[in-house]
Amino acid sequence: MSDQVASVLKSWGEPAYRLKQVDDARRSGAREWDEVTTLPKALRTRLAEVVPLWTVAPDAMAESRDGTIKWRLRTADGLAIESVLIKHARGRRTLCVSSQAGCALGCRFCATGTMGPGRDLTAREIADQAYLAADSARGAEARLSNIVFMGMGEPLQNTSAVFDAIREIHAPDGLGISARSIAVSTAGWVPGIEELVAFEVPVRLALSLHAADDDTRSALMPINNRWPIANVLAACRRYADRTGRRVFIEYLLLDGVNDNVSDARRLASQLRDGRFHVNLIEYNATGGDYRGSPPDRARRFAEELQEAGLHPSFRRSRGADSAAACGQLAAKAR
Ligand code: SF4
Repeated sequence: MSDQVASVLKSWGEPAYRLKQVDDARRSGAREWDEVTTLPKALRTRLAEVVPLWTVAPDAMAESRDGTIKWRLRTADGLAIESVLIKHARGRRTLCVSSQAGCALGCRFCATGTMGPGRDLTAREIADQAYLAADSARGAEARLSNIVFMGMGEPLQNTSAVFDAIREIHAPDGLGISARSIAVSTAGWVPGIEELVAFEVPVRLALSLHAADDDTRSALMPINNRWPIANVLAACRRYADRTGRRVFIEYLLLDGVNDNVSDARRLASQLRDGRFHVNLIEYNATGGDYRGSPPDRARRFAEELQEAGLHPSFRRSRGADSAAACGQLAAKAR
């Protein structure tokens, strides 16, 4: 799946194994055509004149004290996207990939949402983010163990490319990352969730819910006007039933907006059927209208869910000291 390279090789009448040689070289960390030494030199030179080996190239990098690395990458047509590599114990790394350059959904708390619509990334542009990160992790004697589609864009608006990229990332001769270590996060694009129900790789699904009632959610996330909470949760239940995996509910705690005890009770009442796991997320302010909940309110909210039997997890915002948390580098680059 080296789309532009594949079509160039095909148009030149090169045999199919040439593409495999290119893919193998990229997996081994080749950065330039000259390093793809399995190809004849004349072919390398000719390729270098017409097509880049990689569809995305690092353009800026920020590293935070907790070891989180964020890259701003440029596509061949000059668009800026982001990937974030998060450090865990025992040499594991999680990569947060982008699926679109920009985003049309306009969630009010999101730096990417302020950039407006861009374009869908190709499968190659998505997979290349993972290969570059895997290479960087290897250089640090670590291992890219998880991929989350939580970077720029709504992945389920771009299912064709996202699914192809997942097939490659998951394949034993790709990056070999297991389905349960790949997560697709959606703002609630219901037709895309339905497509995911039919997708053959049973990845994890995460829903950015962020509110327990439709009025609050519509104010935060305009997509809720199209698919209200009941509709999107029904689609998530279908996915949970198909895969046997609980759906992650992502819930940013926003001070005075969605963090009352009554919000926690309402949230619990909608998620009590065992198909969901709630992740409470510390909000990483990007200079907009919202502030994260103070620790005592966050704790009270979590206790209320706990009493209702939901056992939420807390997710710390990673990389906040160096603009390496979600949405910040892109916002700075504008
Ligand atoms: S949170 Fe996701 S879906 Fe919403 S605007 Fe940001 S990138 Fe788009």
